[in-house]
Amino acid sequence: MSDAPLRLEVARERMLAGLVALPAEDVPVGEALGRVLAEDAVARVTLPPWDNSAMDGFAVLAADVAGATDATPVTLRVVGESAAGHAPDARVEPGTAVRVLTGAMLPEGADAVVPVEDTDAHQGVADLPAQVAIRAAAGLGAHVRRRGSDLREGDQLVPAGTRLAPASVAVLAAGGLGTLRVHRRPRVAVLGTGDELVPPGQPLGPAQIPDSNSVALAALARAAGAEVVALGVARDRREDVLERLRTGIASADIVVTSGGVSVGAHDEVKEAFDEIGRMDLWRVAIQPGKPLAFGRADGPDGGTVLLFGLPGNPVSSFVTFELFVRPVLRTLAGHPDSIGRRTVRARLADAVTKSPGRRAFLRVRLVADPADPTTHLAELAGGQGSHVLSALARSNGLAIIPEEVDALPAGSVVDVLRIDEEPS
Ligand code: AMP
Ligand code: MG
Repeated sequence: MSDAPLRLEVARERMLAGLVALPAEDVPVGEALGRVLAEDAVARVTLPPWDNSAMDGFAVLAADVAGATDATPVTLRVVGESAAGHAPDARVEPGTAVRVLTGAMLPEGADAVVPVEDTDAHQGVADLPAQVAIRAAAGLGAHVRRRGSDLREGDQLVPAGTRLAPASVAVLAAGGLGTLRVHRRPRVAVLGTGDELVPPGQPLGPAQIPDSNSVALAALARAAGAEVVALGVARDRREDVLERLRTGIASADIVVTSGGVSVGAHDEVKEAFDEIGRMDLWRVAIQPGKPLAFGRADGPDGGTVLLFGLPGNPVSSFVTFELFVRPVLRTLAGHPDSIGRRTVRARLADAVTKSPGRRAFLRVRLVADPADPTTHLAELAGGQGSHVLSALARSNGLAIIPEEVDALPAGSVVDVLRIDEEPS
């Protein structure tokens, strides 16, 4: 294993190498939100299954009411009713009408619906009137929803590889699918490391800080569609790290640790990865997040568990999750596109500097450019130190400054990775 920091794409390719989507499983359509379809979903029913009424009113023959106006109403005999969930109890013959309710089957014989507002019938009255005066003409097919005008049995509704949004599960339920074939969610075990860490909310003793990374990484994992196994916080001792890693490897597809991957005297994670599995790479030429470690271990069922040793600084662990762990999770979850983020061009509002030789990801806030509101201005969201979570929380993008650039003046145009939106 070479010690020279790797280019981002090289590191990411090594992490994604040989990775395929997790096996498919059947889940009820009502629980499939956020899952990725493992196969094309095809309609099992035709909708509407029959011609039906788009309005509360009267099903008629258009020819009968062609001359109807307010001044010259046409009176028809009411012979029956068609209500939602019940078949019509009569058919429409010349000179007759059947009362219909929205969504109910169009009675046989009828070819148009007159809304109740265009009649003398009282709305909301249960008793069927003996006759009805029609006060407006209705064209052929007026207020009739045709069979199959929404979808037809056999139609492809949502293609494989789609992450299911509320509208997708809606159309699949309408299409008669009770369960969906989706990929299993990746399981991510999250481990914090450090003697200084206490659970958030607990009073801080001397030399202590809240463990924010475990919360951040679990949130990122869930937002990427994964399930989370919490491994707690390991003290800076090899045995404690190893013991918790073993639990993670036994229960998850990926173990994500934070902290303990630099060159400090108490940094135990790389050695632990080596002892429990195989280190693949360490250090990527990015800023923040350079001391990133990645390896693999044998899982309990003969599979491979990926080990990510993210840096401890909160912004570094967040950014490296975004750049490396998220694409891995998306691949396991079945997304054809592992990155799933948009990059936009933006003008820097501020001058920036960075370390030479590393690609920088600066926390910026994208706003409409006052000079041209159709384009973006990227304002630094605050301090760019890798401990400054407050700036990360204000940002909605990461401005990408290439390796070979050391500084850029305000006004320079750069790419910004949008981290605030979930593409479909
Ligand atoms: P390390 O690489 O372990 O030396 O960590 C680098 C920096 O990140 C130190 O300032 C740590 O206190 C901090 N850090 C490490 N883990 C966490 C965590 N789980 N939550 C918040 N800060 C952390
Ligand atoms: Mg530490």
